[in-house]
Amino acid sequence: MSSSTELITVGDLTIPVRRKNIRHVHIAVYPPDGHVCISAPLDRRSEVIRAFALTRLGWIKARQAEFQTQSRQGELDFITRESHYLWGRRYLLVVEEEEGAPRVEVMPRQIVLTVRPGSDKACRERIMHDWHKSLLRKEVAPLIRQWEKTLGVTVNAFFVQKMKTKWGSCTPGRGYVRFNTELVKKPKDLLEYVVVHELCHLLEPRHSEKYFTLLSHYYPHWKESRDFLNELPVA
Ligand SMILES: [Zn+2]
Repeated sequence: MSSSTELITVGDLTIPVRRKNIRHVHIAVYPPDGHVCISAPLDRRSEVIRAFALTRLGWIKARQAEFQTQSRQGELDFITRESHYLWGRRYLLVVEEEEGAPRVEVMPRQIVLTVRPGSDKACRERIMHDWHKSLLRKEVAPLIRQWEKTLGVTVNAFFVQKMKTKWGSCTPGRGYVRFNTELVKKPKDLLEYVVVHELCHLLEPRHSEKYFTLLSHYYPHWKESRDFLNELPVA
């Protein structure tokens, strides 16, 4: 794997370019988040690729909007027999009703959600979301401590929250990082990739060449992680 990635900027998009022995430039938009990738002939000048991508910008945006609609349709109802993912594994949700404080338990193949009788969907969803947040916070905290040391950076605060289109984000000026609660559904090593990705932004805010050089140095397998993260279903 090469240590630096060729990137082109089109509008508000930064797109990685993969050089291949092909005749034409190809642009692909991938689910579920609509990330874009360009394949280009080995000898094509990047200005030419950029000009071509610019003509396809409308199409790229339309595809991205489509994926966003699709992921909204994949909404969960938080009812018994529904599939729910946790750390990359699929479980069947079992909803039980009982007086008392709501709780969530993980069994070998089931996630048992116990709620007060008559709890509606919004209520069941909130309990699951709070549970996801606490699970994710527990995993993220030690990863942040570890990577703060490795990268020599300081995170002033981290947040776990619902995010529509991103797995994480960083506010370098404040030293804040945010993580998408949906990460709790992915294998744990992918969470580490997102932590490293966001913490690298404390050293370089933009997705510049310098940024990807840093990321490749500290996390050489970032491309595999990123692709895997974007291929797995969110829900
Ligand atoms: Zn980033």
